[in-house]
Amino acid sequence: MKIAVVGIGVAGAYLMNRLSEARDIQITGFERMPEKDHDAVCAWATSKNEMSRLVKKCGLTFEDYILHNGKHMIVDSGSGTNKRIDIKLKGMVNYDKIKLIRDMTSGTKIEFGRAPRKENLESDFDLIIDSTGFHRNYLPRLKNETWIPCVQYKVRYKTGLEPYDDYYLKAFPSMTGYFWYFPLGNGYAHIGAGDFERKNNNKFVEQFLKKYECEVIRKVGRPVRISPPLFCEPFTDGRKSVGVGESIGTVYSLLGEGIIPASWCAELFIEHYFDLKAYREAVLKKFQIYVLVYRFIQLKISGKFSIIRQWRDLLNIYRHMKSEESRYGMAIKIADMIRVSKI
Ligand SMILES: Cc1cc2nc3c(=O)[nH]c(=O)nc-3n(C[C@H](O)[C@H](O)[C@H](O)COP(=O)(O)OP(=O)(O)OC[C@H]3O[C@@H](n4cnc5c(N)ncnc54)[C@H](O)[C@@H]3O)c2cc1C
Repeated sequence: MKIAVVGIGVAGAYLMNRLSEARDIQITGFERMPEKDHDAVCAWATSKNEMSRLVKKCGLTFEDYILHNGKHMIVDSGSGTNKRIDIKLKGMVNYDKIKLIRDMTSGTKIEFGRAPRKENLESDFDLIIDSTGFHRNYLPRLKNETWIPCVQYKVRYKTGLEPYDDYYLKAFPSMTGYFWYFPLGNGYAHIGAGDFERKNNNKFVEQFLKKYECEVIRKVGRPVRISPPLFCEPFTDGRKSVGVGESIGTVYSLLGEGIIPASWCAELFIEHYFDLKAYREAVLKKFQIYVLVYRFIQLKISGKFSIIRQWRDLLNIYRHMKSEESRYGMAIKIADMIRVSKI
């Protein structure tokens, strides 16, 4: 079977690594960025507990890529007397995402600087994997989807002038998004923001850059899709293309977190690539809770959330995250959840 993997991000890299081992598969990757400019536009935060398991399956050691081990995350809710929520971290780290992608794909066949036309791929391959993330170029357009525009800078601070030594988030009113400061070690950090309302992201980041003197290394921007897989159907074009990762909505919308979910989606694809119906069912099942979380975010953004009416939903989200603290890399408390719901 000849498979094309289009888009070498988290999902694409995982697939290149794991499927290259399969005897019955010939796999070729395509990445639109030239190799020297290939980047991973993302804040690079994840949970080392789950990533260690995933990366081990690719014959690598996740610890080798860690840049910062988190202890606490301050969430500034911006209002009220208890506006700072101090979350104890249990495995949240920042890691060198692009280096890991390069190492996962080392020795595999990838054509960089190429965004091939679907028609051309269809004549050469049996299956085309759309792992283009937000772009979803090889799948039908979605009519009703939600995405958050984001901007991010990689910066460097002089020793002793770092604004924070650990994770910091500032939530925007009605949870339309947040500003982040994620340390990358040795004075480097990712600072950025995403805002559904498009009001706060640029403004807040610019203010922060002015307030804390730093050297700007790089500025990037792209939206993140937060509609869950249930609302990103179809996962295939009915011909040869099938989506894996953010192209089919695998982002945990409460956190804007997509690294682990995209890797899980790639794992599900590996288990079911010979039966796309079973793949679809497995994805919908695995990411079922994302629908509830997305509805919560939608209600918050539209100002329609009521803690009394939606108490049961909030409790279910809490129970889910509490039962998977290790996977989220943080201590989950009901009191924090309630405070977050009041932002
Ligand atoms: C600013 C920002 C910060 C984020 N921070 C975090 C974070 O800290 N932690 C976290 O877990 N998640 C984070 N996310 C979400 C996370 O980055 C994504 O959900 C995740 O990377 C999706 O993985 P993917 O492999 O599906 O797609 P991506 O990682 O987006 O990879 C898609 C790849 O496809 C390539 N491509 C696109 N179109 C084409 C084409 N036509 N032809 C060929 N190649 C193409 C792109 O260049 C890219 O390399 C963030 C997202 C954004 C926007």
